[in-house]
Amino acid sequence: MRAGYDGITALHGVSLRVRAGQVLALLGPNGAGKTTTQKVAAGVHPVDSGRVHYAGRDVTGISSRDAARAGVCLIPEGRGIFPNLTVRENLWMMTFTGKTREEIEALAFSRFPILEQRASQTAGTMSGGEQQMLALTRGLTTDPAVLLLDELSMGLAPLVVGELYERVAEIAREGVAVLVVEQFASAVLDMADHAAVLVRGKVEYEGPPDQSLRNELANLYLGST
Ligand code: ATP
Repeated sequence: MRAGYDGITALHGVSLRVRAGQVLALLGPNGAGKTTTQKVAAGVHPVDSGRVHYAGRDVTGISSRDAARAGVCLIPEGRGIFPNLTVRENLWMMTFTGKTREEIEALAFSRFPILEQRASQTAGTMSGGEQQMLALTRGLTTDPAVLLLDELSMGLAPLVVGELYERVAEIAREGVAVLVVEQFASAVLDMADHAAVLVRGKVEYEGPPDQSLRNELANLYLGST
């Protein structure tokens, strides 16, 4: 698939497959096209050529609304929560999904018990990791088939990132196809099933998240400094 901005190509023939039950880590330096790839997958950005499929169905050119209806959930960098609302209010906003407040709270608090302790707290005053948990649960209330996570580790301590990724792996095991975008890789590679390295809009390397992939990344980042 190819895509770009105002005639400038950002993605030159990127071809990726994310399977249900698996995590695909999409890595690469600043400006490589990782976010653009996710935006195309979420129907937020058009493709210039190529196709997008969900579960075998051609959905190229789908609107973001139809993509959401088809089960695609994008959790953007910066988390997309309402910082001035409480945790509970952030959760209650998801009743548009048809779930009751009680169902949504049960879903959130069983997966992330800390959110129950924080229920009356203003979301923006929580730690970065807790905010990310809230963003993840809000996304999960839509029962996604495809979960797109952008730079989940941004600004978080490595230990917190590791814990969050363990939960992301659990979510995938429940049958969700997860595409994780990250610039810095280690924590995500520990739990990803498959990885792809994007450089200047092209997939330069794709395969299992093993030592040879780590070597590729090391060369890439050392080579670019
Ligand atoms: P980062 O890690 O910095 O978020 P990325 O790998 O996600 O980078 P993209 O944000 O997809 O990369 O950007 C890919 C290319 O497209 C870059 O050259 C970028 O400058 C360009 N680009 C991204 N968004 C826009 C936009 N709204 N208008 C014009 N060009 C854009």
